[in-house]
Amino acid sequence: MIARARPDRSTARRWVYMPEFAQEQLPRYTSYPPANRFHGGIGHGAVATALGSLPARSKLSLYLHIPYCQKLCWYCGCHTSVPTQADPVESYVAALEAEIAQVAALLPQDARVGHVHFGGGSPDILSPAQIDRLFRALRAGFVFAGYPEIATESDPRGLSPEVISAFARNGLTRASLGVQVLDAEVQQRINRIQPRESIESAIDALRRAGVEGINIDMMYGLPAQTLDHVVETATFAAMQDVDRVAVFGYAHVPWMKKHQKGIDTNELPEGEARFRQAEAAARTLEQAGYLPIGFDHFAAPGDSMAAAERRGELRRNFQGYTDDNAVALVGFGASSISSLPGMIYQNVADTARYREALSERRSPVVRGVVLSEDDMQVARMIERLMCDFTVELPDEWLRDPPLKLARTIEAGMAELSGRTLSVTALGRPYVRNVAACFDPDLAPQPGKHSLAI
Ligand code: SF4
Repeated sequence: MIARARPDRSTARRWVYMPEFAQEQLPRYTSYPPANRFHGGIGHGAVATALGSLPARSKLSLYLHIPYCQKLCWYCGCHTSVPTQADPVESYVAALEAEIAQVAALLPQDARVGHVHFGGGSPDILSPAQIDRLFRALRAGFVFAGYPEIATESDPRGLSPEVISAFARNGLTRASLGVQVLDAEVQQRINRIQPRESIESAIDALRRAGVEGINIDMMYGLPAQTLDHVVETATFAAMQDVDRVAVFGYAHVPWMKKHQKGIDTNELPEGEARFRQAEAAARTLEQAGYLPIGFDHFAAPGDSMAAAERRGELRRNFQGYTDDNAVALVGFGASSISSLPGMIYQNVADTARYREALSERRSPVVRGVVLSEDDMQVARMIERLMCDFTVELPDEWLRDPPLKLARTIEAGMAELSGRTLSVTALGRPYVRNVAACFDPDLAPQPGKHSLAI
Protein backbone atom coordinates (compact mmCIF):
# COMPACT_ATOMS: atom_id res chain seq x y z
CA MET A 1 0.00 0.00 0.00
CA ILE A 2 1.16 3.50 -0.72
CA ALA A 3 0.56 5.93 2.08
CA ARG A 4 -0.79 9.20 0.82
CA ALA A 5 1.19 12.33 1.57
CA ARG A 6 -0.70 15.49 2.43
CA PRO A 7 -0.92 17.33 -0.90
CA ASP A 8 1.18 20.48 -1.02
CA ARG A 9 -1.29 23.31 -1.57
CA SER A 10 1.39 25.81 -2.53
CA THR A 11 1.10 26.50 -6.22
CA ALA A 12 4.41 28.33 -6.57
CA ARG A 13 6.44 27.40 -9.63
CA ARG A 14 9.87 28.58 -10.69
CA TRP A 15 10.44 28.53 -14.42
CA VAL A 16 14.14 27.78 -14.76
CA TYR A 17 15.13 26.35 -18.14
CA MET A 18 17.09 23.13 -17.72
CA PRO A 19 17.54 21.77 -21.24
CA GLU A 20 18.60 18.28 -20.15
CA PHE A 21 15.20 17.84 -18.49
CA ALA A 22 12.95 20.04 -20.66
CA GLN A 23 14.03 18.16 -23.78
CA GLU A 24 13.61 14.67 -22.42
CA GLN A 25 10.96 12.73 -24.32
CA LEU A 26 8.52 11.29 -21.83
CA PRO A 27 5.05 9.78 -21.62
CA ARG A 28 2.28 12.08 -20.48
CA TYR A 29 1.28 9.35 -18.00
CA THR A 30 -2.42 9.49 -18.71
CA SER A 31 -2.18 5.80 -17.88
CA TYR A 32 0.35 3.44 -16.41
CA PRO A 33 1.46 1.10 -17.86
CA PRO A 34 1.61 3.21 -21.03
CA ALA A 35 0.15 1.94 -24.32
CA ASN A 36 3.47 0.55 -25.57
CA ARG A 37 3.12 -2.24 -22.99
CA PHE A 38 -0.28 -3.33 -24.28
CA HIS A 39 -0.24 -6.74 -25.99
CA GLY A 40 -2.62 -8.91 -27.98
CA GLY A 41 -3.15 -11.45 -25.22
CA ILE A 42 -6.17 -9.58 -23.81
CA GLY A 43 -9.41 -10.57 -25.49
CA HIS A 44 -13.12 -10.66 -24.99
CA GLY A 45 -13.08 -13.38 -22.29
CA ALA A 46 -10.73 -11.49 -19.97
CA VAL A 47 -12.56 -8.20 -20.54
CA ALA A 48 -16.00 -9.76 -19.95
CA THR A 49 -14.79 -11.29 -16.67
CA ALA A 50 -13.25 -8.00 -15.52
CA LEU A 51 -16.36 -5.98 -16.40
CA GLY A 52 -18.64 -8.50 -14.68
CA SER A 53 -16.46 -8.49 -11.55
CA LEU A 54 -16.64 -4.77 -10.88
CA PRO A 55 -17.68 -4.09 -7.28
CA ALA A 56 -21.38 -3.62 -6.49
CA ARG A 57 -22.69 -0.11 -7.21
CA SER A 58 -19.52 0.81 -9.06
CA LYS A 59 -19.35 4.36 -10.35
CA LEU A 60 -18.54 4.36 -14.05
CA SER A 61 -17.18 6.85 -16.48
CA LEU A 62 -17.96 6.38 -20.18
CA TYR A 63 -15.90 7.65 -23.11
CA LEU A 64 -17.15 7.69 -26.71
CA HIS A 65 -14.58 8.23 -29.43
CA ILE A 66 -15.78 9.93 -32.64
CA PRO A 67 -12.81 9.61 -35.01
CA TYR A 68 -13.93 12.06 -37.70
CA CYS A 69 -13.34 15.73 -38.47
CA GLN A 70 -14.49 18.04 -41.28
CA LYS A 71 -10.89 18.95 -42.07
CA LEU A 72 -7.52 17.87 -40.68
CA CYS A 73 -5.46 20.31 -38.63
CA TRP A 74 -1.81 19.67 -39.35
CA TYR A 75 -0.70 19.67 -35.70
CA CYS A 76 -3.27 17.02 -34.74
CA GLY A 77 -2.07 14.03 -32.71
CA CYS A 78 -5.50 12.40 -32.32
CA HIS A 79 -6.87 9.29 -33.96
CA THR A 80 -9.14 10.89 -36.56
CA SER A 81 -9.81 11.22 -40.29
CA VAL A 82 -12.15 13.01 -42.68
CA PRO A 83 -15.21 10.84 -43.44
CA THR A 84 -15.38 9.31 -46.92
CA GLN A 85 -17.96 7.26 -48.78
CA ALA A 86 -16.14 4.11 -47.72
CA ASP A 87 -15.86 5.27 -44.12
CA PRO A 88 -19.08 7.10 -43.24
CA VAL A 89 -20.13 8.45 -39.88
CA GLU A 90 -23.62 6.89 -40.02
CA SER A 91 -22.49 3.25 -39.98
CA TYR A 92 -19.91 4.11 -37.31
CA VAL A 93 -22.72 5.39 -35.07
CA ALA A 94 -24.58 2.10 -35.61
CA ALA A 95 -21.45 0.20 -34.53
CA LEU A 96 -21.17 2.40 -31.44
CA GLU A 97 -24.79 1.60 -30.54
CA ALA A 98 -24.01 -2.11 -30.88
CA GLU A 99 -20.90 -1.84 -28.71
CA ILE A 100 -22.77 0.09 -26.01
CA ALA A 101 -25.38 -2.69 -25.84
CA GLN A 102 -22.67 -5.38 -25.88
CA VAL A 103 -20.73 -3.88 -22.97
CA ALA A 104 -23.80 -2.87 -20.94
CA ALA A 105 -24.92 -6.50 -20.91
CA LEU A 106 -21.66 -7.49 -19.20
CA LEU A 107 -21.68 -4.94 -16.39
CA PRO A 108 -23.27 -5.35 -12.96
CA GLN A 109 -26.86 -4.05 -13.11
CA ASP A 110 -26.33 -1.63 -10.25
CA ALA A 111 -23.38 0.22 -11.80
CA ARG A 112 -23.98 3.98 -12.05
CA VAL A 113 -22.66 6.35 -14.69
CA GLY A 114 -21.27 9.59 -13.25
CA HIS A 115 -19.41 10.92 -16.32
CA VAL A 116 -19.90 10.67 -20.07
CA HIS A 117 -17.25 12.16 -22.33
CA PHE A 118 -17.46 12.53 -26.11
CA GLY A 119 -13.99 12.89 -27.60
CA GLY A 120 -12.36 12.63 -30.96
CA GLY A 121 -11.94 13.77 -33.56
CA SER A 122 -14.81 16.20 -33.52
CA PRO A 123 -17.99 14.92 -31.86
CA ASP A 124 -19.81 17.89 -33.39
CA ILE A 125 -19.57 16.13 -36.75
CA LEU A 126 -22.52 14.03 -35.53
CA SER A 127 -25.97 15.05 -36.72
CA PRO A 128 -28.57 15.94 -34.08
CA ALA A 129 -30.36 12.65 -34.86
CA GLN A 130 -27.13 10.68 -34.35
CA ILE A 131 -26.49 12.47 -31.05
CA ASP A 132 -30.00 11.56 -29.88
CA ARG A 133 -29.49 7.93 -30.94
CA LEU A 134 -26.25 7.61 -29.00
CA PHE A 135 -27.82 9.03 -25.85
CA ARG A 136 -30.80 6.69 -26.26
CA ALA A 137 -28.38 3.75 -26.48
CA LEU A 138 -26.48 4.96 -23.40
CA ARG A 139 -29.62 5.44 -21.33
CA ALA A 140 -30.99 2.05 -22.44
CA GLY A 141 -27.78 0.33 -21.38
CA PHE A 142 -26.79 2.21 -18.24
CA VAL A 143 -28.26 3.81 -15.16
CA PHE A 144 -27.12 7.41 -14.88
CA ALA A 145 -26.28 8.82 -11.44
CA GLY A 146 -28.36 11.83 -10.30
CA TYR A 147 -26.49 14.63 -12.07
CA PRO A 148 -23.84 13.12 -14.30
CA GLU A 149 -21.17 15.25 -15.93
CA ILE A 150 -21.74 15.03 -19.68
CA ALA A 151 -18.91 16.59 -21.59
CA THR A 152 -17.86 16.96 -25.19
CA GLU A 153 -14.81 18.13 -27.07
CA SER A 154 -15.81 20.68 -29.67
CA ASP A 155 -14.39 22.37 -32.69
CA PRO A 156 -15.93 25.88 -32.62
CA ARG A 157 -15.96 25.87 -36.44
CA GLY A 158 -18.40 22.96 -36.60
CA LEU A 159 -20.61 23.79 -33.67
CA SER A 160 -23.99 24.54 -35.23
CA PRO A 161 -26.99 25.66 -33.13
CA GLU A 162 -28.65 22.32 -33.97
CA VAL A 163 -25.71 20.30 -32.64
CA ILE A 164 -25.53 22.43 -29.50
CA SER A 165 -29.21 21.98 -28.84
CA ALA A 166 -29.01 18.20 -29.45
CA PHE A 167 -26.23 17.85 -26.88
CA ALA A 168 -27.97 20.29 -24.50
CA ARG A 169 -31.30 18.42 -24.54
CA ASN A 170 -29.36 15.29 -23.65
CA GLY A 171 -27.86 16.93 -20.59
CA LEU A 172 -24.54 18.43 -21.74
CA THR A 173 -22.82 20.04 -18.75
CA ARG A 174 -19.37 20.88 -20.14
CA ALA A 175 -17.79 21.65 -23.51
CA SER A 176 -14.06 21.84 -24.26
CA LEU A 177 -13.36 24.10 -27.18
CA GLY A 178 -10.22 23.71 -29.24
CA VAL A 179 -8.86 27.23 -29.61
CA GLN A 180 -5.10 26.50 -29.79
CA VAL A 181 -3.94 29.90 -31.09
CA LEU A 182 -5.65 33.10 -32.21
CA ASP A 183 -3.04 34.53 -34.54
CA ALA A 184 -4.23 34.23 -38.14
CA GLU A 185 -0.80 33.51 -39.60
CA VAL A 186 -0.09 30.69 -37.17
CA GLN A 187 -3.60 29.37 -37.85
CA GLN A 188 -2.76 29.28 -41.53
CA ARG A 189 0.42 27.33 -40.84
CA ILE A 190 -1.52 24.67 -38.93
CA ASN A 191 -4.44 24.51 -41.40
CA ARG A 192 -6.96 25.66 -38.86
CA ILE A 193 -8.50 29.01 -39.73
CA GLN A 194 -10.68 30.03 -36.85
CA PRO A 195 -11.57 33.70 -36.36
CA ARG A 196 -11.95 34.74 -32.74
CA GLU A 197 -15.58 35.77 -33.42
CA SER A 198 -16.44 32.14 -34.25
CA ILE A 199 -15.09 31.05 -30.86
CA GLU A 200 -16.90 33.83 -29.02
CA SER A 201 -20.18 32.96 -30.68
CA ALA A 202 -19.73 29.23 -29.93
CA ILE A 203 -19.16 30.05 -26.24
CA ASP A 204 -22.14 32.38 -26.22
CA ALA A 205 -24.39 29.77 -27.88
CA LEU A 206 -23.29 27.06 -25.43
CA ARG A 207 -24.00 29.31 -22.45
CA ARG A 208 -27.40 30.29 -23.82
CA ALA A 209 -28.19 26.59 -24.20
CA GLY A 210 -27.49 26.15 -20.48
CA VAL A 211 -24.07 24.50 -20.70
CA GLU A 212 -22.40 25.70 -17.52
CA GLY A 213 -18.85 24.39 -17.84
CA ILE A 214 -16.74 25.84 -20.65
CA ASN A 215 -13.11 24.77 -21.16
CA ILE A 216 -10.58 26.05 -23.65
CA ASP A 217 -7.64 24.09 -25.01
CA MET A 218 -4.67 26.13 -26.20
CA MET A 219 -1.20 25.26 -27.45
CA TYR A 220 2.39 26.42 -27.45
CA GLY A 221 5.29 25.35 -29.65
CA LEU A 222 3.34 25.77 -32.93
CA PRO A 223 5.08 26.91 -36.14
CA ALA A 224 5.96 30.61 -36.11
CA GLN A 225 4.23 31.00 -32.75
CA THR A 226 5.73 33.67 -30.50
CA LEU A 227 5.46 34.58 -26.84
CA ASP A 228 3.02 37.35 -27.78
CA HIS A 229 0.78 34.87 -29.59
CA VAL A 230 0.68 32.67 -26.48
CA VAL A 231 -0.12 35.62 -24.20
CA GLU A 232 -2.81 36.79 -26.64
CA THR A 233 -4.55 33.38 -26.60
CA ALA A 234 -4.28 32.91 -22.83
CA THR A 235 -5.62 36.44 -22.26
CA PHE A 236 -8.50 35.71 -24.62
CA ALA A 237 -9.34 32.50 -22.70
CA ALA A 238 -9.34 34.41 -19.40
CA MET A 239 -11.51 37.18 -20.85
CA GLN A 240 -14.11 34.61 -21.89
CA ASP A 241 -14.29 33.75 -18.18
CA VAL A 242 -14.06 30.04 -18.98
CA ASP A 243 -13.85 27.51 -16.16
CA ARG A 244 -10.76 25.60 -17.25
CA VAL A 245 -7.89 26.08 -19.65
CA ALA A 246 -5.62 23.26 -20.77
CA VAL A 247 -2.24 24.23 -22.21
CA PHE A 248 -0.59 21.62 -24.44
CA GLY A 249 2.84 21.67 -26.08
CA TYR A 250 2.84 20.70 -29.76
CA ALA A 251 4.42 17.28 -30.34
CA HIS A 252 5.98 17.07 -33.82
CA VAL A 253 5.97 13.41 -34.86
CA PRO A 254 5.39 13.42 -38.65
CA TRP A 255 6.72 9.84 -38.87
CA MET A 256 3.70 8.80 -36.76
CA LYS A 257 1.17 11.43 -37.92
CA LYS A 258 1.59 11.95 -41.66
CA HIS A 259 -0.46 15.17 -41.88
CA GLN A 260 2.12 16.88 -39.63
CA LYS A 261 4.36 16.93 -42.73
CA GLY A 262 2.41 20.07 -43.67
CA ILE A 263 4.21 21.83 -40.80
CA ASP A 264 7.55 23.47 -41.55
CA THR A 265 9.99 22.09 -38.99
CA ASN A 266 12.22 25.15 -39.41
CA GLU A 267 9.49 27.36 -38.01
CA LEU A 268 8.98 25.43 -34.77
CA PRO A 269 10.06 27.25 -31.61
CA GLU A 270 12.69 25.14 -29.95
CA GLY A 271 14.57 24.82 -26.67
CA GLU A 272 14.25 27.76 -24.34
CA ALA A 273 11.91 29.66 -26.72
CA ARG A 274 9.40 26.81 -26.42
CA PHE A 275 9.89 26.58 -22.65
CA ARG A 276 9.24 30.32 -22.24
CA GLN A 277 5.97 29.93 -24.15
CA ALA A 278 4.77 27.36 -21.60
CA GLU A 279 5.81 29.79 -18.87
CA ALA A 280 4.03 32.72 -20.57
CA ALA A 281 0.77 30.78 -20.79
CA ALA A 282 0.99 29.79 -17.11
CA ARG A 283 1.86 33.29 -15.90
CA THR A 284 -0.89 34.94 -17.96
CA LEU A 285 -3.54 32.54 -16.69
CA GLU A 286 -2.36 32.71 -13.07
CA GLN A 287 -2.29 36.52 -13.16
CA ALA A 288 -5.88 36.37 -14.43
CA GLY A 289 -6.84 34.39 -11.31
CA TYR A 290 -6.70 30.80 -12.56
CA LEU A 291 -5.22 28.14 -10.29
CA PRO A 292 -2.61 25.84 -11.76
CA ILE A 293 -3.75 22.21 -11.71
CA GLY A 294 -1.08 19.60 -12.29
CA PHE A 295 1.37 20.58 -15.00
CA ASP A 296 -0.91 21.66 -17.84
CA HIS A 297 -4.35 22.64 -16.54
CA PHE A 298 -5.70 25.85 -15.03
CA ALA A 299 -9.04 26.18 -13.28
CA ALA A 300 -11.16 29.03 -11.94
CA PRO A 301 -11.11 28.91 -8.12
CA GLY A 302 -14.79 27.89 -7.96
CA ASP A 303 -14.47 25.09 -10.50
CA SER A 304 -14.97 21.47 -9.43
CA MET A 305 -11.50 20.49 -10.63
CA ALA A 306 -9.93 23.15 -8.39
CA ALA A 307 -12.03 21.83 -5.48
CA ALA A 308 -10.92 18.25 -6.19
CA GLU A 309 -7.30 19.40 -6.27
CA ARG A 310 -7.72 21.13 -2.88
CA ARG A 311 -9.19 17.94 -1.40
CA GLY A 312 -6.30 15.85 -2.78
CA GLU A 313 -8.80 14.05 -5.03
CA LEU A 314 -7.54 15.11 -8.42
CA ARG A 315 -7.15 12.15 -10.79
CA ARG A 316 -5.51 11.49 -14.10
CA ASN A 317 -7.07 9.50 -16.90
CA PHE A 318 -6.85 9.25 -20.69
CA GLN A 319 -8.30 12.72 -21.11
CA GLY A 320 -5.67 14.25 -18.78
CA TYR A 321 -6.52 15.73 -15.38
CA THR A 322 -10.02 15.08 -14.07
CA ASP A 323 -12.16 15.34 -10.96
CA ASP A 324 -13.89 12.12 -12.00
CA ASN A 325 -13.55 9.54 -9.22
CA ALA A 326 -15.10 6.62 -11.09
CA VAL A 327 -13.85 3.10 -10.37
CA ALA A 328 -13.76 2.24 -14.06
CA LEU A 329 -13.50 4.16 -17.31
CA VAL A 330 -15.18 2.30 -20.16
CA GLY A 331 -14.30 3.42 -23.69
CA PHE A 332 -16.40 2.94 -26.83
CA GLY A 333 -15.38 3.36 -30.42
CA ALA A 334 -12.33 2.77 -32.58
CA SER A 335 -9.03 3.10 -30.67
CA SER A 336 -10.76 3.87 -27.36
CA ILE A 337 -9.03 2.71 -24.18
CA SER A 338 -10.77 1.38 -21.07
CA SER A 339 -9.34 1.24 -17.59
CA LEU A 340 -10.71 -1.16 -14.99
CA PRO A 341 -9.21 -2.02 -11.61
CA GLY A 342 -6.25 -4.23 -12.59
CA MET A 343 -6.72 -4.09 -16.36
CA ILE A 344 -6.38 -1.66 -19.27
CA TYR A 345 -7.58 -2.60 -22.75
CA GLN A 346 -7.98 -0.97 -26.14
CA ASN A 347 -10.29 -1.33 -29.13
CA VAL A 348 -9.04 -1.79 -32.66
CA ALA A 349 -8.02 1.58 -34.12
CA ASP A 350 -9.09 0.97 -37.72
CA THR A 351 -12.69 2.16 -38.16
CA ALA A 352 -13.50 -0.46 -40.84
CA ARG A 353 -12.28 -3.28 -38.63
CA TYR A 354 -14.13 -1.76 -35.68
CA ARG A 355 -17.39 -1.74 -37.66
CA GLU A 356 -16.74 -5.26 -38.94
CA ALA A 357 -16.25 -6.64 -35.42
CA LEU A 358 -19.51 -5.13 -34.20
CA SER A 359 -21.48 -6.22 -37.27
CA GLU A 360 -20.32 -9.78 -36.56
CA ARG A 361 -21.23 -9.34 -32.88
CA ARG A 362 -17.60 -9.72 -31.89
CA SER A 363 -15.77 -7.63 -29.33
CA PRO A 364 -13.60 -4.87 -30.88
CA VAL A 365 -10.99 -5.26 -28.09
CA VAL A 366 -7.60 -6.14 -29.57
CA ARG A 367 -4.99 -5.50 -26.91
CA GLY A 368 -4.35 -4.48 -23.33
CA VAL A 369 -2.48 -5.33 -20.19
CA VAL A 370 -3.29 -6.95 -16.83
CA LEU A 371 -1.64 -4.94 -14.06
CA SER A 372 0.57 -6.74 -11.58
CA GLU A 373 0.74 -5.56 -7.94
CA ASP A 374 3.96 -3.73 -8.85
CA ASP A 375 2.28 -2.03 -11.82
CA MET A 376 -0.57 -0.86 -9.59
CA GLN A 377 1.87 0.55 -7.08
CA VAL A 378 3.80 2.44 -9.77
CA ALA A 379 0.52 3.66 -11.30
CA ARG A 380 -0.63 5.07 -7.94
CA MET A 381 2.71 6.74 -7.25
CA ILE A 382 2.89 8.37 -10.66
CA GLU A 383 -0.72 9.55 -10.45
CA ARG A 384 -0.29 11.09 -6.97
CA LEU A 385 2.95 12.81 -7.96
CA MET A 386 1.38 14.25 -11.10
CA CYS A 387 -1.74 15.39 -9.18
CA ASP A 388 -0.48 16.33 -5.69
CA PHE A 389 3.25 16.93 -6.39
CA THR A 390 4.00 14.77 -3.38
CA VAL A 391 3.80 11.12 -2.43
CA GLU A 392 4.87 8.92 0.47
CA LEU A 393 7.28 6.29 -0.71
CA PRO A 394 6.55 2.71 0.24
CA ASP A 395 9.31 0.80 2.11
CA GLU A 396 10.69 -1.00 -0.93
CA TRP A 397 11.17 2.25 -2.85
CA LEU A 398 12.77 3.89 0.20
CA ARG A 399 15.19 1.01 0.61
CA ASP A 400 16.04 0.98 -3.06
CA PRO A 401 15.20 4.36 -4.63
CA PRO A 402 15.37 4.61 -8.42
CA LEU A 403 18.75 5.85 -9.65
CA LYS A 404 17.17 8.59 -11.75
CA LEU A 405 15.52 10.06 -8.65
CA ALA A 406 18.90 11.12 -7.25
CA ARG A 407 19.44 13.15 -10.42
CA THR A 408 16.19 15.09 -10.02
CA ILE A 409 16.91 15.67 -6.31
CA GLU A 410 20.42 16.94 -7.12
CA ALA A 411 18.92 19.30 -9.69
CA GLY A 412 16.63 20.71 -6.98
CA MET A 413 13.44 19.44 -8.61
CA ALA A 414 12.40 17.15 -5.74
CA GLU A 415 13.11 16.70 -2.03
CA LEU A 416 12.93 13.62 0.12
CA SER A 417 12.07 14.17 3.76
CA GLY A 418 11.60 10.95 5.72
CA ARG A 419 9.44 8.96 3.38
CA THR A 420 7.76 12.00 1.77
CA LEU A 421 8.90 12.88 -1.71
CA SER A 422 7.87 16.40 -2.74
CA VAL A 423 8.26 18.18 -6.03
CA THR A 424 9.74 21.64 -5.43
CA ALA A 425 8.62 24.93 -7.02
CA LEU A 426 11.51 24.50 -9.44
CA GLY A 427 10.43 20.95 -10.22
CA ARG A 428 6.71 21.61 -10.82
CA PRO A 429 7.04 22.40 -14.52
CA TYR A 430 9.15 19.22 -14.72
CA VAL A 431 6.82 16.88 -12.82
CA ARG A 432 6.79 14.43 -15.75
CA ASN A 433 10.56 14.04 -15.32
CA VAL A 434 10.13 13.29 -11.60
CA ALA A 435 7.27 10.86 -12.22
CA ALA A 436 9.29 9.09 -14.92
CA CYS A 437 11.88 8.11 -12.28
CA PHE A 438 9.39 5.53 -11.02
CA ASP A 439 8.62 4.06 -14.44
CA PRO A 440 10.74 0.91 -14.60
CA ASP A 441 9.96 0.27 -18.27
CA LEU A 442 10.85 3.67 -19.62
CA ALA A 443 13.56 3.22 -22.19
CA PRO A 444 14.89 6.03 -24.37
CA GLN A 445 12.81 5.85 -27.56
CA PRO A 446 13.57 8.92 -29.65
CA GLY A 447 10.46 10.27 -31.36
CA LYS A 448 8.08 8.07 -29.40
CA HIS A 449 7.03 10.47 -26.66
CA SER A 450 6.50 14.22 -26.43
CA LEU A 451 9.02 16.68 -24.97
CA ALA A 452 8.72 17.09 -21.20
CA ILE A 453 7.93 20.81 -21.73
S1 SF4 B 1 -10.41 19.30 -35.12
FE1 SF4 B 1 -9.24 18.43 -33.41
S2 SF4 B 1 -9.27 16.23 -33.75
FE2 SF4 B 1 -9.89 17.18 -35.68
S3 SF4 B 1 -8.01 17.34 -36.87
FE3 SF4 B 1 -8.27 19.28 -35.77
S4 SF4 B 1 -7.12 18.96 -33.86
FE4 SF4 B 1 -7.45 16.96 -34.75
